[in-house]
Amino acid sequence: MAELLDGKLVAQNIQNGVRAGVEALGRRGAVPQLVVIQVGENPASTIYVRNKARTSEAIGMRSRISRLPASASQGELLDQVDALNADPEVDGILVQLPLPEHMDSFKVLCRIDPARDVDGFHPFNVGALSIGKATLVPCTPAGILVMLDHYKIPLAGADAVVIGRSNIVGKPMAALLLQRNATVTVCHSKTKDIASVTARADVLVAAMGRPGFVTAEMVKPGAVVVDVGMNTLTDRAQAERFFAMDAKKMQTFNEKGSVLIGDVDYVRVREKAGWITPVPGGVGPLTVAMLLQNCLTAAKLRRNL
Ligand code: NAP
Repeated sequence: MAELLDGKLVAQNIQNGVRAGVEALGRRGAVPQLVVIQVGENPASTIYVRNKARTSEAIGMRSRISRLPASASQGELLDQVDALNADPEVDGILVQLPLPEHMDSFKVLCRIDPARDVDGFHPFNVGALSIGKATLVPCTPAGILVMLDHYKIPLAGADAVVIGRSNIVGKPMAALLLQRNATVTVCHSKTKDIASVTARADVLVAAMGRPGFVTAEMVKPGAVVVDVGMNTLTDRAQAERFFAMDAKKMQTFNEKGSVLIGDVDYVRVREKAGWITPVPGGVGPLTVAMLLQNCLTAAKLRRNL
């Protein structure tokens, strides 16, 4: 049975460190400030944005949510970003994605001052990551790396496989693992015989958004399995397929009519893996913790500290 990679615990450690850093800056009269821009009222985005604001305040940062209606023009959003770029009180700027369809998110992300780009999505920061010089790294993969380090998972020389090549998870995850001297393979929807690739992985990161895609047969015995996926099952047959042996999960499904699942068939894979992240309580908490860490880093760098 695999040991648990406890993202909640590691996220708490990260937050404790950030709290101390924020207090130290506060003694110099420079409490960091995070501003999250939300365009429209996508319900999931509203929850994420509120969560980011609350968590940053809970650790002593200043935080602000800047809301624009879904009908706002791209020009209005760019003006808002420009105003925040010019505000010396603002250390971190984050534009919550997805944006409404009439907006070009690449153009918007390019407008954020790279020194305040706490999501690490600006091409300057993406380029810096690819040459091993990054200061602001996308939060989810950065958090995963902190967690792997916390559990002293060896990466140098390890065969690492990342499933998914998104700009926010898969590609930066691969870059970070490569930087740590893993031999990295990235799989995507056109990869042939994916199971034969994943079966070689000492470290397997699943970030594709396909419920329970990674089965026990796809995993090498003793592998480290990191599940980034966040999917909701609403179909009883599906819930029973994955969680018939997990009374707690089935109870959640019976009470709520839905249950969370990652990209890994957790119940079966944990029998074979050496280490595994749960969903929830694995990667999710690390993402918010690293956002705060990035905001503190941005605040310190802007003050040459
Ligand atoms: P995304 O932008 O939709 O990218 C998904 C990637 O998976 C793509 O590269 C896609 O390949 C690949 N893929 C899809 N189906 C595949 C298949 N059958 N076989 C192999 N590869 C496949 O997703 P994302 O934003 O990276 O997010 C991935 C998952 O992580 C989602 O469930 C999301 O909710 C979750 N997530 C969680 C956190 C957290 O904090 N816990 C943060 C971010 C994301 P192609 O490029 O070929 O299309």
